[in-house]
Amino acid sequence: MITDNKSVVTLVEENMSQQRTQTIGGLAPSYGRESGTGFPARRLRRLRQNDRFRRLVREHSLSIDDLILPLFVVPGHGIKHEINAIPGNYHLSIDKLIEEAKEIRDVGIPGILLFGVPDPKEKDLLATGAYAPNGIVQQAVRALKRNVPELLVVTDVCLCEYTTHSHCGILQDGYLLNDASKDVLARTALSHVQAGSDMVAPAAMLDGQIRALRQTLDDDGFVNTPIMAYSAKYASKLYDPFFKEGTQSTLSHGDKKTHQMDFSNSNEAMREIAMDIEEGADIVMVKPALYYLDIVYRAKTEFQMPLATYNVSGEYAMIDAAARIGRLDKKLIMMEALISMKRAGADIIITYFAKEAAKELQ
Ligand SMILES: [Zn+2]
Repeated sequence: MITDNKSVVTLVEENMSQQRTQTIGGLAPSYGRESGTGFPARRLRRLRQNDRFRRLVREHSLSIDDLILPLFVVPGHGIKHEINAIPGNYHLSIDKLIEEAKEIRDVGIPGILLFGVPDPKEKDLLATGAYAPNGIVQQAVRALKRNVPELLVVTDVCLCEYTTHSHCGILQDGYLLNDASKDVLARTALSHVQAGSDMVAPAAMLDGQIRALRQTLDDDGFVNTPIMAYSAKYASKLYDPFFKEGTQSTLSHGDKKTHQMDFSNSNEAMREIAMDIEEGADIVMVKPALYYLDIVYRAKTEFQMPLATYNVSGEYAMIDAAARIGRLDKKLIMMEALISMKRAGADIIITYFAKEAAKELQ
């Protein structure tokens, strides 16, 4: 009968000592005692006993410097519509985008990742709106660089927002053409850079797209414009809030499994990253982040390249929704999620939490 704490401790110790004796055939374990490396000389809880100790020995931390915020620009004026599926994020017309960009700069976030949501009338089968000099992204970039030059403007380079079927390139008999599409992507990237984009981020997961972009930019004299490659981008359902409501470019048919990666694969991600580095990527990316931290870790360990990870809309929406019904604390889970990406090896985190996290870190 256990009647007080002392007897519990005594019972546990007796039990443990019996088990140990049985396990090692009657020999008392001596490891750790003479050397001083085991218990009781070693008590890992000593450095966890208060916040000052914990801060001193903390291995990884999140900085505002690590963050990039995705933003969605739409045609029109005076528009700031919350995106239901990604609460706290907005469709912004260029005037409102500038206001938002100033706020982002003021909280210290280094950069934004810009997505265009064009007028549906401007979509066609060849994605010509993607590289139009007066396209929504090109206009927005010019306005941003004019009004908020301190903020890094990274532009997402893909065609899915500009095709009528919302596939990431040119289709032939339902199949996404690789080489024809990559040339349109290169042309699109060039138009972004000509408008003033500081860095382009090709997202289509086509073979050879990094080489195509690099050559096109170099030929036009933009040898110093870096490329952040969506190198290991998985065919994930975690993008649904983004496509359904963020860019409003849900596929008319089919899926993206012929170009984005199978989520069962990990070695293949390393081959994708190696190819992008060889073709001239300056930063490589793993997308999504949370279910793919093993890939982030491997990518950092194997390549030691500047590494980004994209904490995608579905990851954001899950935490946000759980917080709304009182299941999780949004701020605490947000920090736990973001730190896990740093711990895995990410240098850069693209996240819809960026503003909220930056405010916590200030
Ligand atoms: Zn796309």
